[in-house]
Amino acid sequence: MKNAAKQQITVLGSTGSIGVSTLDVIARHPERYTVYALTANSRIDGILLQCERFKPEVAVVGTAEAAQVLQSALRQKGLATEVLYGEDALCQVAGAPRTDTVMAAIVGSAGLAPALAAANAGKKVLLANKEALVMSGQLFIDAVHQNGATLLPIDSEHNAIFQCLPPTYMRSPEHYGIEKITLTASGGPFLTLDLNLLDSVTPEQAIKHPKWVMGRKISVDSATMMNKGLEVIEAHWLFGMPSGQIDVVIHPQSIIHSMVSFLDGSVVAQMSYPDMRLPIAYALAYPERISSGVAPLDLAKVGLLQFESPDYRRFPCLRLAYEALDAGGIMPIALNAANEIAVAAFLEQHLGFARISEVVERVLDKSAGKSTATDLESVLQHDNRARELAKSLIFP
Ligand code: NAD
Ligand code: MG
Repeated sequence: MKNAAKQQITVLGSTGSIGVSTLDVIARHPERYTVYALTANSRIDGILLQCERFKPEVAVVGTAEAAQVLQSALRQKGLATEVLYGEDALCQVAGAPRTDTVMAAIVGSAGLAPALAAANAGKKVLLANKEALVMSGQLFIDAVHQNGATLLPIDSEHNAIFQCLPPTYMRSPEHYGIEKITLTASGGPFLTLDLNLLDSVTPEQAIKHPKWVMGRKISVDSATMMNKGLEVIEAHWLFGMPSGQIDVVIHPQSIIHSMVSFLDGSVVAQMSYPDMRLPIAYALAYPERISSGVAPLDLAKVGLLQFESPDYRRFPCLRLAYEALDAGGIMPIALNAANEIAVAAFLEQHLGFARISEVVERVLDKSAGKSTATDLESVLQHDNRARELAKSLIFP
């Protein structure tokens, strides 16, 4: 491939778990990809090393002070990368004419505005930041369609579903003989823990995921299964699937990443060892295939694949997510915002693990009947309102 044909990539959240895996895949294919921009919130040493290696045109960090530190360190090393800071700069690099592909891998609601900016600019959007889609739903999907953007799911389950659906699939399950989709879940570290002990688990225990190495927030979400709940809502928007046709099954080995059931009884599943470089490589090269660095699957070595239904007593967050999706309107925004606050409070040891779902449920109760949010500003207003409500419940 000639230099001119290389994809110019912006990696939003490049110092995170997904960001690092993305750069790993990019580094394997220098003939295909170059990095246009990298962004990090606070890990300046991390993004400095990444800038030395990938030589982006632009780097974005959280604050003016951090930008100054990074800019002078880059100058000292003779690198020409321009350093910007703040949310406007994130939106700028996401929508820049010089980039064609944007990996949206900032965690939580902070990633919404830049992900939406990429969609509005008609980019190929690789969406890891599920919270952005949960919050903005139809707004995001409309931005993709109205601006000719391409939306490719990075979440391993949705990437699996995307791989299993017919290539012409267009968000209408009834036209393709699709009965349901099933998202798999590992069940997290507390799948078999005595229910009475759940409230005394520590952040260290919660973030120690049995199958995936991920950021702290999503690791806690996996332990409560709010992650799967957010993914149910994400699947609804990505694939135009009603909640009644989205199932969840616990599969502790994390080999089957999700599956599609058709009317004739066929079930098409996607399998691999659990490693995010696979969905990232798939989306980067789509519709082609490239190597990802993931070892070939040896099913004889894996041996056993198990499945069980999730227990809502152990995982009330999953039930709450289905309820928020069915209630519609701003309820998914409230669900996500309350969860972000409750998880942060748990990580800072201000809230017991079992109280995460209680906070989310109470915020949902208090948000019921509120209207819809049809633009970014009102999404962020409702997000903020739910955050304040959650804080007032945690710190009365
Ligand atoms: P992480 O915590 O490891 O990294 C988060 C990144 O976002 C970092 O680069 C950080 O600098 C940046 N960031 C955080 N707060 C920010 C802010 N306020 N402004 C700007 N940048 C900010 O998280 P992760 O595990 O890489 O997850 C990223 C996203 O991908 C999440 O939405 C997560 O749900 C999703 N995801 C992750 C995985 C996984 O395996 N890690 C799998 C599926 C989906
Ligand atoms: Mg996932």
